[in-house]
Amino acid sequence: MTLDHKLVASLSRAQFDAAHSQGYAETLVQQTETARQLFLGNFDGVVPVAQAFADAWLGIGVASALDGELLVVDGVVWRVPDTGLPEVADPQLLVPFAIAERRAPEGAIHRDQIPAGTTFQQLGALVAAADSSCVTLRLEGVFSDVVLRSEHRQEPPYRHLDEVLREDSHQEVRWHFPKWEGVMVGYRFPDAREGVLLPGLHLHALSADQKTGGHVREMTVHTAELTWAHAQVQVTVPTKVLTTRTSPSTYDSTRR
Ligand SMILES: [Zn+2]
Repeated sequence: MTLDHKLVASLSRAQFDAAHSQGYAETLVQQTETARQLFLGNFDGVVPVAQAFADAWLGIGVASALDGELLVVDGVVWRVPDTGLPEVADPQLLVPFAIAERRAPEGAIHRDQIPAGTTFQQLGALVAAADSSCVTLRLEGVFSDVVLRSEHRQEPPYRHLDEVLREDSHQEVRWHFPKWEGVMVGYRFPDAREGVLLPGLHLHALSADQKTGGHVREMTVHTAELTWAHAQVQVTVPTKVLTTRTSPSTYDSTRR
């Protein structure tokens, strides 16, 4: 099945619900903002966590001003700031970029045991080989040589994301774990999508004891089960509402 054409930009929530009730064999992913905007350094949040991850079962994102990596595990939104300590995200926290989905319909879910020794790069190739479409992933188990990261909160004017994450800018914080147990969630998108989607495999992690987490840089599977589903992606670019001193209901044009 070829799914390259399945990027949809205008599927409504009602269609999403209808698709689910019909047992549609795909899951629908709701993305807030384009990856291009994030890469360009537009780190100011545009919608709150409660909206970006509404009813989400699984998801990833980043907090406003890059003040923490976000992930949704089993319906709970977590934030991993530069301390490395995961905390449940404030529903009012603004996010500049998020990818979220509801629980996939059972008919869309595939389960595979991932062979011991599989690295992050090999997992990406494995999933890419299975299908060239958008895939949503949940990987749970025991891992070795795990490297997780978050980054320091940024101050405007923001730099491009790749400059922030450059080694010599010292904004990235990394944690190494020889042995690590927990869950990794995220997406594998096709490599080229004109800057709309994040290319390749992108995973965020939360340990079983909920004491470590972050963006996954490296990992090797010891024993892990992968749950995955094909996905359609709906990208929403929120209209940025300017803050005004006077609300429309009280605005009096005669007092201009
Ligand atoms: Zn990330």
